[in-house]
Amino acid sequence: MKITDVKLYLAEIPLEAPFHSTWNPGNPETKLFVSLVEVITEDGIRGYGAACDSAQLLAGIWDSHIRPLLIGKEVTETEAISAGLINAALYAYRPWCVEVAVWDALGKYAGLPIYKMLGGAQDRVLAYASTGELKPVEERVEDAQRFIDEGFTMMKIRAHHDDPAIDLKNIEEIVARVGSKIKIAVDCNQGWFFSGKRVIAKWDYKKALAICDALYDMGIQWLEEPLYGYDYDGLAELRASTKLNIAGGELNAQMHEYKELLKRNCFDIYQVDTVLSGGILISRKVAALVEAENKIFTPHTWTHGMGLAAALHVAGSVTHCPFIEYCYDPPRWDYAIRDRMLTKPLKVARDGFIDVPQGPGLGVEVDMDLINRYAVLKK
Ligand SMILES: [Mg+2]
Repeated sequence: MKITDVKLYLAEIPLEAPFHSTWNPGNPETKLFVSLVEVITEDGIRGYGAACDSAQLLAGIWDSHIRPLLIGKEVTETEAISAGLINAALYAYRPWCVEVAVWDALGKYAGLPIYKMLGGAQDRVLAYASTGELKPVEERVEDAQRFIDEGFTMMKIRAHHDDPAIDLKNIEEIVARVGSKIKIAVDCNQGWFFSGKRVIAKWDYKKALAICDALYDMGIQWLEEPLYGYDYDGLAELRASTKLNIAGGELNAQMHEYKELLKRNCFDIYQVDTVLSGGILISRKVAALVEAENKIFTPHTWTHGMGLAAALHVAGSVTHCPFIEYCYDPPRWDYAIRDRMLTKPLKVARDGFIDVPQGPGLGVEVDMDLINRYAVLKK
């Protein structure tokens, strides 16, 4: 079944209210960016994959690299397409949603959800509510109660004040008030260098170690991105020096970076992002590397509903993914906002688990009317 056409759309969907993410401080997000790829086969199957970045870069190499790579290939040739995209990444950072669209088309061709073609280990995965803003303690406690009422058993909060002592004090209070009812993880986004309109005081090794030890004493599940994601030596030393679980990897990509992280024992929890780190096939290969080292694999999913759908299929294909990130920080980042490009949002069941979509391919339907309405770029 040959691929006969491939299209690119960049939709910029306005958010109802600005979202103040910790990874882009001082520069609130006002739009949901959907970089959507549509793969069309000779019998009219349409496969979709989407990330939230790189559309302009992809557009620049669309005719020179992406179309020649895909047109005329069998939809089953995922290895060759993945290898071609590794080359394309030299020109256009993170082109991986192209490969996800091929997998969606392949699943539709085979009549199978992607995770069943990759191992079919679990039909549902425990979801944790992942918040993205810094909020006052009182509001976070209310959020935690809402998550508990909705069935969540784990949540993640952010630490990103200029003075980490404020983060520790806030987290301690949140743990004291709701920690007996919900497990809590912490993400400090030290892997990010966006400083928006103010300069961020970066953590060094000693500061990170003191914070890890304090969070361990509070019963925190893990600390995420305590240092820059390419500070392999620092991360390895930190992990060896604290009892707290260390997580990271959302900004790393391709097999060799994760191989290095694993070789140096940088993390307990490896957070590969399917649409940002290499696509379905590379994510699945990295998952195998993580499995061989007996570590936890759990996808990072902070893009949008299409990114979550792709990650769910990788998570569902393996046995060592005990939970998955469910980006959810209402009211400004509700699941309905996150999944606006889907005809049906991906929801968590009352027991805190989320189903891997059971339809063929990704098992989700893209709202193309919405994409076309907000498209600022088409190729
Ligand atoms: Mg993170």
